[in-house]
Amino acid sequence: MIKEETITELKNIVGEGNVLTSTLERILYEYDASVDRALPDAVIFPTTTEHVSQIVKTANREKIPFVARGSGTNLSGGSVPIRGGIVIELSKMNQILELDLENFRAVVQPGVFNLDLYNTLAERGYFYAPDPSSQMVATMGGTVGENAGGPHCLKYGVTTNHVMGLEMVLPNGEVIETGGKSLDMPGYDLAGLIVGSEGTFGIVTKIIVRILKMPEEVKTMLAIFESLEDAAQTVSDIIAAGILPATLEMMDKFTIGAVENFAKAGYPLDAEAVLIIELDGLKDGMERLSRRVVQICQKNSARDVRVAKDDAERERLWIGRKSAFGAIAQLGPNYFVCDGVVPRSKLPETLRQVVKIGEDYELRIANVFHAGDGNLHPLILYDERTTDINKVLKAGMEILALCASKDGMVSGEHGVGLEKRDAMRMVYSEDDLNVMKRMKMVFDPDNLANPDKIFPQD
Ligand SMILES: Cc1cc2nc3c(=O)[nH]c(=O)nc-3n(C[C@H](O)[C@H](O)[C@H](O)COP(=O)(O)OP(=O)(O)OC[C@H]3O[C@@H](n4cnc5c(N)ncnc54)[C@H](O)[C@@H]3O)c2cc1C
Repeated sequence: MIKEETITELKNIVGEGNVLTSTLERILYEYDASVDRALPDAVIFPTTTEHVSQIVKTANREKIPFVARGSGTNLSGGSVPIRGGIVIELSKMNQILELDLENFRAVVQPGVFNLDLYNTLAERGYFYAPDPSSQMVATMGGTVGENAGGPHCLKYGVTTNHVMGLEMVLPNGEVIETGGKSLDMPGYDLAGLIVGSEGTFGIVTKIIVRILKMPEEVKTMLAIFESLEDAAQTVSDIIAAGILPATLEMMDKFTIGAVENFAKAGYPLDAEAVLIIELDGLKDGMERLSRRVVQICQKNSARDVRVAKDDAERERLWIGRKSAFGAIAQLGPNYFVCDGVVPRSKLPETLRQVVKIGEDYELRIANVFHAGDGNLHPLILYDERTTDINKVLKAGMEILALCASKDGMVSGEHGVGLEKRDAMRMVYSEDDLNVMKRMKMVFDPDNLANPDKIFPQD
């Protein structure tokens, strides 16, 4: 519990209306898109970096834990306030501060939605590449916290490859700046360290990102397969042929059915798998490249490869893919999202084994994922009224162990949070983990910033 005089102090910093303390209001912030829940003692909406600094100084003095929150769409328990304390909600710090088109940079506050930055840039012929499927609501701060990926990250790289500099409030309330607009900065790459740290080093209050010019030509295709393995082999073969599409997304039969019913994107309901393949770049050579991709699909027994005829058709294909997580809800009242990654040449055998895990546990598993990155997102369907959640979590852990056994990782892009803390030992030794823990202590010796996340709890 937070003392009444501390609440008053916090209200004096941000204004009475920006501090929530009633049970009803706090319940709205006890969850994210994972299965964990924990009630915060207060939720605070700062509007400036100075507010964040003062809130954190107060929390530090009183030894109150605090958790940064964007939109709470992360899938690993990252913004669940497991020890209570303060949720610092950054949605009111939502300004695009600068578009420096000449130098291919943008400066934003953490509460800006990823899609708002994309759309603002698109009007001017530029774009910001990391595009999580949740981009309509995922905030720039949250994507920095999770080092988010997305369909276009296959070609362009994930969030860390686009963050040039950060302003961050340390857990003692000091404000630091690291990196900047230049390509190479002297000293340690602290921005690189902070991206993906899930709010455990402090609260990011300003982000400088790299932006890109829109490609001259885009070609989007839907390749239709009779088997999941043929689709997975195609992914591997396209890249092995030296072709780097902007995206290579896969959906299995379960997902196709749900998405088609919801988005009417034109996906074939009788196919076992589809790939959305997007090529982008110069006009010159694009036809030749797309013919080559079609040949590789055909070599892997693709039933059909449809090329989107215009922007409207392309848009429809993407609406289908980007609404897949939502559409899956039609298949069952609950689902648990796994997130692992394997070298893409091992995708076909891994997918086969994921199907087997589903059969062993008698759980339905739908697959939709950024296949080009080797990312897997098996969605385990269940009904919390009738299924033991521990069985679901156990199946999820088995999938992560499978990824680890294939030289993969236990998180492709959704972070570790609470959910995958124990899985960290599948891929890191105690020495590896201790170096990371010591890093946390450098930034946060009192362990107040998003405590108990990322590391196994002994
Ligand atoms: C339907 C759906 C589709 C998704 N698709 C993708 C996808 O394609 N790719 C992908 O990578 N993820 C995806 N996600 C997961 C999620 O959307 C991303 O992790 C996203 O980056 C989270 O953004 P958020 O604003 O919701 O952050 P939150 O969930 O609020 O926070 C995420 C983490 O970042 C920390 N954090 C938030 N703001 C700050 C800040 N200002 N400073 C420091 N730390 C901060 C939080 O403490 C937490 O640990 C998807 C989720 C859903 C529900």
